[in-house]
Amino acid sequence: MKLRVCIILLVVIFARAEGSDVPCQNQGGSCHDVNSYSCPGTYHSGLCSGTNSRKCCISSHDAACSGQGGTCQEDSHSCSGTYHSGLCSGANSRKCCVSSGSSSQQTGSGSCPHIISRVEWGARAPKHHIGNMAGPAQYVFIHHGSSPPCSTETSCKAKVKAYQDYHLDGHGWTDIGYNFVVGEDGNAYMARGWTEIGAHTQGYNSVGIAICVIGDFNSRVPNDAALNTIKQLISCGLAGGYISSSYTLKGHRDVGSTDCPGTALYNLIHSWPHYKSGTQRYG
Ligand SMILES: [Zn+2]
Repeated sequence: MKLRVCIILLVVIFARAEGSDVPCQNQGGSCHDVNSYSCPGTYHSGLCSGTNSRKCCISSHDAACSGQGGTCQEDSHSCSGTYHSGLCSGANSRKCCVSSGSSSQQTGSGSCPHIISRVEWGARAPKHHIGNMAGPAQYVFIHHGSSPPCSTETSCKAKVKAYQDYHLDGHGWTDIGYNFVVGEDGNAYMARGWTEIGAHTQGYNSVGIAICVIGDFNSRVPNDAALNTIKQLISCGLAGGYISSSYTLKGHRDVGSTDCPGTALYNLIHSWPHYKSGTQRYG
């Protein structure tokens, strides 16, 4: 009798302990003891079972891969599908393996643009992590960098680095402010990524993703390569669950006193799906 009670109790405790790691796993993270594991992203409290020192480690940059239903691994390992670059943290040899049987691949990676990882563009490490957005982004904000444009991968990488230097050294921010940067080379550049709270649109940073196009778009719109990449990023974020299906698209100037994202680009996005003008919050 005693043994039975004990076993039942153990089962209950075990089920509870395992069950309470689920909130972390749902965020794409895994539970570790902060004293014995170095998290390549951000630790989050309240998502793991066990003692207070056991926290949820979410790698902000691997999240782009898990959003595609893939896993990050060294490309020397065998992948039962296709390797994708630009979705994983770490060295260039660390790539996102998306199984050919994965259902999210059909809706996901097919609509994702080529994303240049932070390692590839030579990002400086963030001073610290602000934290992750509470859920899928409710807003997508379009910005421009108000700088000269770039049309090759080499020149665009240099621009993204310059933006990061300006945000870190000029503004004293923890990292480049945007979630993604897009160049007229047709590449998307991983900045804070899908989940990390950015510094881009006052009042909306914790509920919105910012996509910044390199250049000044007051008198002309970005080229087709850049425009297609913005649209692909949005569908990629939708497929990965990082952008709410009921998201609202806005230009930066809709909610702040700025000419960003430039008059020509601002007028263009008025015709895009989900665009709503004005400063009121939706959803
Ligand atoms: Zn802006």
